[in-house]
Amino acid sequence: MNKFNKVTEIIDSAKSLDSEFEDILELSKTCKFSNCTHTTEPECSVKKAISEGTLSIERFNDYYATKEESQYVSKKKNKTKAIDYMKKLKLFR
Ligand SMILES: [Zn+2]
Repeated sequence: MNKFNKVTEIIDSAKSLDSEFEDILELSKTCKFSNCTHTTEPECSVKKAISEGTLSIERFNDYYATKEESQYVSKKKNKTKAIDYMKKLKLFR
């Protein structure tokens, strides 16, 4: 797959995040902070669900990786460079 396709794929996956991870988004609405990243914030509903076992950590990691990846690439003006950088960091699954 060429780099351009990969960029398109990542940006598309960001768009589908809302429907694909609806359960996590529902949970995040009840986090104390509206901009919660579900990592270090106190009173986080997502972390609570993970600790209670109602949400699997694998699923959250999948959501988080997709989100971070898409945000990073969308923010960069030079998408090709962004992809190369992420490959170096082995951020791509
Ligand atoms: Zn949270």
